[in-house]
Amino acid sequence: MTMEEVENGRDDMLIDGIEPKQNQNIEIPEEFNANYLRAYYDGRHPGCDQSYVGRREISFTLENDIYTRFLSFNSITELEKAIKEKCPFKIDIGAVYSVDPAKKDAYSQNAFTPVERELVFDIDISDYDDVRFCCSGANVCSQCWPLMTVAIKVIDTALRDDFGFNHILWVYSGRRGVHCWVCDGKARRLNNEQRAAITEYLHVYKGNENSNKKVSLMGPLHPFLARSYTEVLKDFFEEKFIYSQELFSNEERYEKILEMIPEESVTSELRGKWLDNKRSRDDVNMARWGHLKQLLQSGKHKLLEELNRGGLRSEGEDGMLANLRS
Ligand SMILES: [Zn+2]
Repeated sequence: MTMEEVENGRDDMLIDGIEPKQNQNIEIPEEFNANYLRAYYDGRHPGCDQSYVGRREISFTLENDIYTRFLSFNSITELEKAIKEKCPFKIDIGAVYSVDPAKKDAYSQNAFTPVERELVFDIDISDYDDVRFCCSGANVCSQCWPLMTVAIKVIDTALRDDFGFNHILWVYSGRRGVHCWVCDGKARRLNNEQRAAITEYLHVYKGNENSNKKVSLMGPLHPFLARSYTEVLKDFFEEKFIYSQELFSNEERYEKILEMIPEESVTSELRGKWLDNKRSRDDVNMARWGHLKQLLQSGKHKLLEELNRGGLRSEGEDGMLANLRS
């Protein structure tokens, strides 16, 4: 948004941190000040902006899955009244359009376009079904929910430190995961291509249901991945998750991890070792994880030498990153 737009009265939300011209000469103390409240209630809070609020699409899903789109409300009172009347089973918040979405038919197709939308990520616990054995589908428990916490830590840090966003809201989606709403002005005005680029940045999961090679991590690792690994993932994986899910406890489970490693000579060596199934005093999960790490760090394998140079050791080791899809 340019200053010209501000001067022309184009509305924006307070969180953008754009100071209107008339306030520029006022000294702003850092501590709490009652004048802030005065300024806020005097037309600075987002609800004051009728035009902005009124151009936001709201949709209701009513009983029997009746989906009503392009609703709009000029005030919280209007919205509240409609909610009480219609009793929606589900409410969705859509984009802010160039004109009131409820009156879109009065405008030409070109005049009615979305102009802003928060950057939204959706993480479902069911995306982790190949590495959790306590639950599947929409079910969650205290054993697998920490995967969500870890995903939130990794993504939140990237959004703040790598992209400079500040206004980030994490909410329980109500069923099987969490939603992340990035509300900064610069996030709301991203175009589709830019949104896809941010998603791509956070993405290490390749392939699909029919593809075994699901993680693509070639060294040297991007600083985002290296940081996520050392600051969040490593401890969680080695101290909690390996045990809580018994990730290496039987062939069916460890195969899922071996399948992620593209180097055939590594996987066949480990398969041979683990099929032997010699009793060890160590926990089988930790022992096998140790074998995998040792082999990948040994430098015997060309691909892994490359990964070593990147500061990380293996593809299998970072399989947990695989599910940070948005
Ligand atoms: Zn669970």
